[in-house]
Amino acid sequence: MPRPFTTEDYRARIARAAADAAAAGLAGLVVAPGPDLVYLCGYQPTAITERLTALVLGAGREPALIVPKLERPDAERAAGAPAVRLLDWTDGEDPYATAVPLLDPAGRYGISDNTWAMHLLGLQGALPGTGFTSLTASLPMLRAVKDTDELERLAAAGGAADAAYRGILEVSFAGRRETDVAADLGALLIQYGHSQVDFTVVGSGPNGANPHHEAGDRVIRPGDTVVLDFGGLKDGYGSDTTRTVHVGADVPDEVRKVHDVVRTAQQTAFEAVRPGVTCQEIDRIARRVITEAGYDEYFIHRTGHGIGITTHEPPYLVEGEEQPLVPGMCFSIEPGIYLPGRFGVRIEDIVTVTANGGRRFNNTPHDLGIVS
Ligand code: ZN
Ligand code: ZN
Ligand code: ZN
Repeated sequence: MPRPFTTEDYRARIARAAADAAAAGLAGLVVAPGPDLVYLCGYQPTAITERLTALVLGAGREPALIVPKLERPDAERAAGAPAVRLLDWTDGEDPYATAVPLLDPAGRYGISDNTWAMHLLGLQGALPGTGFTSLTASLPMLRAVKDTDELERLAAAGGAADAAYRGILEVSFAGRRETDVAADLGALLIQYGHSQVDFTVVGSGPNGANPHHEAGDRVIRPGDTVVLDFGGLKDGYGSDTTRTVHVGADVPDEVRKVHDVVRTAQQTAFEAVRPGVTCQEIDRIARRVITEAGYDEYFIHRTGHGIGITTHEPPYLVEGEEQPLVPGMCFSIEPGIYLPGRFGVRIEDIVTVTANGGRRFNNTPHDLGIVS
């Protein structure tokens, strides 16, 4: 088990978030239940409902967590609770009135992206002079740079996903449905310590050409190329890895060739990771390898996404993202080639930026795995 996060950890995160908000010209942040709230105070209500829960913070103000009265005991148990002032409201009261004294009536606030529209509208109604902007748009890197404890969790999640991949190479594919192999993958992730499975993509044959095909009733056949992309949360942090396998050792030349191109694109992009290189440059490097091999029109998504408390978050490795890489950032590098109606190939590792370059959290072989 990793070291649990402490009240001091949350206090430091809240202070940094308030300082980052001020530096971005914001009066503060309003954070509803979801990954940002978990990150800032370790609190996740049992159910996210129409009852308002919100953390309000700003430079020079005591951070406050508004909770429904009946959920106050739950909130008090969160590790970050001592770092905030708890305010409750009772059913029948106007929860937005509770928020009014906490917000600058003329200030502009970053509000977490998953805040329900009814809550944002309620706050706007109660505070007509206050402005709100998307937290991801205004402070996209709030959770992007991971500290040592977070890196340890992400490395452990990656190691567990790798163990799941080694396990899936031992099961039989031919004659079974994609959903059967997906169930095996999910069970392996749990067996290796995940508390939550977020996705188990099993894209066999032509289904592999759809990058987000989950898994369906198709019966896997000898000679199929199969994309396996799976991940979830372990100790609160995400895993996400992709390997492409072939059913039987008789691999067609084009599958071999496409796989080599994707593997080279992934490796070349990985080797380019170092502080100061922009996110879009990593995307361009992966894309250049695929373009030079003649497959540019078949690489139909960005090269990668950040990972942390969630499995998809900033930074995004995509054309137009000029954010430079910073030590501690963690993201996927996952180029792919998708040939419609035929097959797909993707190779994905989670990578972190260190002072000297990239470090992988997924370390299973990149060669085309052979399954039976
Ligand atoms: Zn994805
Ligand atoms: Zn993935
Ligand atoms: Zn991914």
